[in-house]
Amino acid sequence: MPIETPNNRPKINKPKFNLSWLYLIIGFSFLILIFFNNNNSSSKEVTYSEFKEMVQNGYADKIVAYNDNSLDMFVKPEYVQKVFKENYKGLSRSPSVHVEVGSMNALDDFLTQAQKDGQFNGSVKYEKKSDIWSVVLWNTLPIIILIVAYIWLMRRMSNGAGGGGANPFNVGKSKAQVYENVNNKDRITFKDVAGQAEAKQEVEEIVEFLKNPEKYTELGGKIPKGALLVGPPGTGKTLLAKAVAGEANVPFFSMSGSDFVEMFVGVGASRVRDLFRQAKEKAPCIVFIDEIDAVGRARGKNPSMGGNDERENTLNQLLTEMDGFKSNSGVIILAATNRVDMLDKALLRAGRFDRQIHVDLPDLNERVAVFKVHMRPLKMDETVDIDLLARQTPGFSGADIANVCNEAALIAARHSKKAISKQDFSDAIDRIVGGLEKKTKIMTADEKRSIAIHEAGHATLSWFLEHADPLIKVTIVPRGRALGAAWYLPEERQITTKEQMLDEMCALLGGRAAEDLFIGHISTGAMNDLERATKQAYSMIAYIGMSEKMPNLSYYSSTDEYSFQKPYSEKTAELIDSEVQRMINGQYERAKQLLSEHKEGHAQLAQVLIEREVIMADDVEKIFGKRPWTSRTEEILAEEEKIGKKV
Ligand code: ADP
Repeated sequence: MPIETPNNRPKINKPKFNLSWLYLIIGFSFLILIFFNNNNSSSKEVTYSEFKEMVQNGYADKIVAYNDNSLDMFVKPEYVQKVFKENYKGLSRSPSVHVEVGSMNALDDFLTQAQKDGQFNGSVKYEKKSDIWSVVLWNTLPIIILIVAYIWLMRRMSNGAGGGGANPFNVGKSKAQVYENVNNKDRITFKDVAGQAEAKQEVEEIVEFLKNPEKYTELGGKIPKGALLVGPPGTGKTLLAKAVAGEANVPFFSMSGSDFVEMFVGVGASRVRDLFRQAKEKAPCIVFIDEIDAVGRARGKNPSMGGNDERENTLNQLLTEMDGFKSNSGVIILAATNRVDMLDKALLRAGRFDRQIHVDLPDLNERVAVFKVHMRPLKMDETVDIDLLARQTPGFSGADIANVCNEAALIAARHSKKAISKQDFSDAIDRIVGGLEKKTKIMTADEKRSIAIHEAGHATLSWFLEHADPLIKVTIVPRGRALGAAWYLPEERQITTKEQMLDEMCALLGGRAAEDLFIGHISTGAMNDLERATKQAYSMIAYIGMSEKMPNLSYYSSTDEYSFQKPYSEKTAELIDSEVQRMINGQYERAKQLLSEHKEGHAQLAQVLIEREVIMADDVEKIFGKRPWTSRTEEILAEEEKIGKKV
């Protein structure tokens, strides 16, 4: 991933004029207004003796005395000119003079005398004088608090990655990360994407569009506006999109679908607008929207009732924008999702996301390639066998494999090794599949025996059932929440037959069957197995039409995800239940039967497990002899080795 350098960092707004400046100006004017307003009332300072003279002359209208030994004398309108001389113009209607008084008592006496003599008949008021700053503070504090609270709230709401969060007035701005002018070293290219040959071929064409649009437009063709990368998480969709940008050497805008969604109505739509505005400025470029299902889910199909107007608005805006820009404007939108069935049909129609590119979990050869990519920076010794690792990681995504490599390096470092060995990789895989080993979990001898018998049951059955997945290792060291575990090497099949499914079910039930047969009482340890077996049986009977009493019927509906009604009658429901029970009971009996036949072998296996805690397939082979069945995976591998086909 390119590191953000000053060159490729998203452009942060320079201090240009925006609303926040206006607010500042208003705030300042307000302060100034208050300040001057308070000062305005006294417009002339006079001495005490001048004041006395004025009162004696009958100029005083009213007097306000303050606790800080000063007073304001308001002048009667008819004497204003006399008091203020030539400055009287422009004064308010009742101007005042300000006087510092020596003693309030003396003032009191003087005023009583003046009133007696009829020189002054206005009112005298005593007031507490507050200082000017506290007046300012009291007037402005609530407003300041409000503004601060508002800014805080906006920040909280627009929080998150990207430049948009920094300024509360940028809520409507898109939070896209922009990578441009990425130097050659950091650029992601197709070399960094292992496997995915078909997907790569499809996106290579997009690179070609971006590099030589004329080649296509000259013939009258239109350049596609977008492509949808569909596949499970971690299979390299983002990586592929980045590689397209890297290969075409164009700016890359990356945003997640959920970044559009915000609490405010209208923000999502405005972010979409902003994203496309920015993209058009930078064209040719690539806009990548990860997890597009966050905004692109089919409209009006929301299970939570009431709908989500904001999301629909955002989606509508996205649709409009995609229609709005011309196909030759050089902006290509790539989006990723693993739920293409949930997306709005309008989004998928030609002219928007014209193409769907499937990015699947890597197969054996692709896994080897992914391992090679991620092993490039690692220091390893010669024991590491990439082919074996790839075989041990069926169902792993590219991201999982990257994780295995990293984990192996960490494990090796923890043991202060100079290079990463085969064992570190195995430990890393085990850890990722089963969680951390909990060697400290306390177990009684009885519990240990019971777990060993249970796991040995699985191991024995998988050895003798033709279609069960071949065993790699069995352990009774607790890991994560499981107390014991058996590792298998599942076949990678496109279709599965009924016999294969039944064999798997039988092997699953082997743990419980062994407890039942050889201990005499059953335990909670089998819950996870039973859950899987029951689910398997239900799907075989209700969905895949594999039951004897109700063959060729499937009650699965790929379209109604949230249907609350069963598409069958109560009677059928009962039949399904009884068929499930029959199937599971049948397999349970079969498991018991097989275990009784291999009783001695099982007992030996359990004993070795109790002693060693971990046993590998070789140890099982020593007890039972060679497995009567070879798996297809093994056959293919042997075949490939013979013809020397290497990736
Ligand atoms: P997605 O977007 O499909 O969820 P990412 O593209 O984010 O997955 O993949 C996550 C990481 O997994 C990548 O950064 C990369 O290290 C690794 N990865 C996934 N697929 C591949 C692949 N085909 N080749 C190399 N690395 C891969």
